[in-house]
Amino acid sequence: MATLGSCRTCKGQVSSEAKSCPHCGQPFPLLNGVDEAQGYFHAGNKIAAIKCLREKNGLDLKDAKDIVDSWEK
Ligand SMILES: [Zn+2]
Repeated sequence: MATLGSCRTCKGQVSSEAKSCPHCGQPFPLLNGVDEAQGYFHAGNKIAAIKCLREKNGLDLKDAKDIVDSWEK
């Protein structure tokens, strides 16, 4: 069941099932473990970053990879 939470970027209300924030466009605005995953990413360990996001959020591989790939921009 979808719940409401606050976007981690703009703090606007967003459904837990939203794939992007309707207010600011942040992908997966309620994602857990982003800081930890970005730590792995910036250390050059993309695989660990993807694994971290998957474990904490139950994402499938493609979604987790898309998020991590978006950090390369
Ligand atoms: Zn937002």
